[in-house]
Parts: sequence; C-alpha cells; structure tokens
Amino acid sequence: MKVTFPHMGNMYVPIKVLLDTIGIEYVMPPLKSNNSYESAIKHSPEFACLPFKSILSDFIYGIENGADFILFGGGRGQWRLGYYGDLQAEILNRLNYRAEFVCLDLSNLTVVEVLRRIGPLVEGKSIFKIISGIYYAVRTVYRVDRLNALARYTRCREVQKGQTDRIMSEFHKQVQKTNGYRCITNIIHDTVKLLRKVLKDRNYKPLRISLVGEMYVCAHPNINLDIERKLGNMGIEMHNNLTISNWITEYFIKKLIPVGLKDKSLEAGKEYMKTDDIGGHGLHTIGNCILSAKKKFDGVIHLYPFTCMPEIVAQCAFSEIEMKYNIPIMTLIIDEMTGEASYVTRLEAFVDLLAMKTRQKMSFI
Ligand code: SF4
Repeated sequence: MKVTFPHMGNMYVPIKVLLDTIGIEYVMPPLKSNNSYESAIKHSPEFACLPFKSILSDFIYGIENGADFILFGGGRGQWRLGYYGDLQAEILNRLNYRAEFVCLDLSNLTVVEVLRRIGPLVEGKSIFKIISGIYYAVRTVYRVDRLNALARYTRCREVQKGQTDRIMSEFHKQVQKTNGYRCITNIIHDTVKLLRKVLKDRNYKPLRISLVGEMYVCAHPNINLDIERKLGNMGIEMHNNLTISNWITEYFIKKLIPVGLKDKSLEAGKEYMKTDDIGGHGLHTIGNCILSAKKKFDGVIHLYPFTCMPEIVAQCAFSEIEMKYNIPIMTLIIDEMTGEASYVTRLEAFVDLLAMKTRQKMSFI
C-alpha cells in the first residue's frame, strides 16, 4: 500500500520520519502548489474554504502518482471540517480516483480508534518500529518548530538580508531529498548551527507581531503567501500561535494522554464568548489576541480563509479587544484569488501604523 497525505506547513517533516521509520511507502505532494490545484478548485463546492481545495489537490496529486491510501485528520466538530473528509472522498469517487480514504476524527480520537482505522497500513509491520516511528515523529515536530522560531528571531535581525531565507530554503530542499530520522535530525542540527552563525544586529529592537487565526492558513506558508518571511524581511519579529507542535499537543497528545492541562488561549477567549467551542480555532483566536496584548506585542494579524465561519464569529470581538487592551488587529482574508501585491501593501501599511504608534508612545516618555 502507498499512502499519501496533505501538507500543512512543516508537518511533512515528522510525517516523513514516521513513515520512513515504520517502512510505509508514500507519495508526498510537492510543497508548492501542484498541477492538481486547478482541478481541485474546479471540482470543489463554491462555498468550500481554501484549505478544502488545497487538501483535495494534494489527494489528487497523490493518487495520480500511485498512492492508494489517503490519511487525513478531520472531525465531527461544529464546523465544516466535520464533513470535509466525507465530501472529499465523494468528490474523488465521482472523479474515478480509487483509494482507501481514512479520515481520523480529531475531535474524538482514541488509541483504539487510530489503530483500527490505520490497520491495513501497518499490517505486518513490527510494533517496535511503529512505536519508534511515533516517538521520533513527535520529537521531530518540536525540533522543527524550534528551528522555525529561531529562523523568525534571526530573520528580522540579520545584517546581510536574505541569509535566513537561503538557509531555510536549503533546509527544505535537503529534507525532501533525505529519508530517515537520523539524517533528518542531522539536517535540523546543521541548520540550527548555520542560523546561529548568522551575523545579527544585537541593538535592533524589532516591532513584534503575533499571528492568530485559522490553523491551516497560519501554518502553511504556501497558502498564507509566506507571511512570516515577508514580515520578517521587513524587520518584524513574528510570533506564530498556530504551530504544528501546538496542534499536535492539542489534538493528539492531550486527547490520547489526557493530562488535564488547560488550554490558555481557549480559557482567555471565554472572556468574550461564553462557550467551549465556536468551531475551528475561533475561540483560540479571541484568546490569542488577548494574550498577545498581555505579552506586549505591538500588533496582531488575524488570518483566515474566505468563508471560514469560526473566524468570522471570532472577528466580532475584535473592536472591543482593540479598545480594552489597546492593541491594533488587522484581519486578512485569503482565497485562491488573493493577489500578492495588494496583500503586501496591506502588510506594509500595518507595519507603518505600528511604527508610528510606537514613535508616538516613545515621544510621551
Ligand atoms: S475552520 Fe474555517 S478554514 Fe478551517 S475547515 Fe473550518 S471553515 Fe474551513
């Protein structure tokens, strides 16, 4: 059996580690959009959000390149991801793409259920390799996120512009060409060393922006038009609240091993919505805006795909949060028609506004 999976930011790195360790063959869609994207857009319902279309295009690419097993994490929650898996399976079926479609219900995940659903994929594989694969993959998730945090810190302070981008682009090229936990770990370590060697302006005090919003769009540079890199190169220190390690902790580790830890952003969000869930990451978005203000970020960028219901609901609270916590929030809505030039103009205008606000603050001190 050959499995394929959709991209979401850097998640492909731990997935590669997992599948390589267990010895499962796979087809990995390209990191940048592939030529199945047009077909996915054409066959998706017009109300579907961008993640739906992007994920469907990865499935189509995978099947066209030999995969016969699709692994996907969906859910039965209050928002549309709850039925996206079924809808995507139906579209693929209608287009005569044949593959076993396994959609893990992230809102109700148990070890027994995971093993039952992925049974055919790991049949005949050593249990030792399966456990090692999961362990190595989880370690890799956290390592890659720490590497990204270091890249964000370095990019805005580098003296010679473009160095961080070159190092990170080489990192992705190397990882795609390499197999196995040890080799990928070595690449991560080498990249960390290179980033540490980059000459930085230690006296530079960058503006700090916190990224909040819908998980897929915030985590996937190919979909968010590389927002972290763009702002980093404008001299902004970015902080992404929607990292893959947070997602894994929330949806997998806490579900499989309930340790009773409260989600800080979810708790903070309840100040404005007296509920446990408004679907997706809506409540986290509200909470992350409040926490970002408390952590003295200069501004917040809220990112979501056109028609994303949970984020539209969350946005209702922003004017009050901006006033109460004195933090500027800019919302950017993305779909397949988003033009890069207007997107960059809005980012530049927001950065100018934050810089002006900081100058005004300093003049009063
Ligand atoms: S949270 Fe928004 S973007 Fe994500 S699947 Fe649901 S509707 Fe689509």
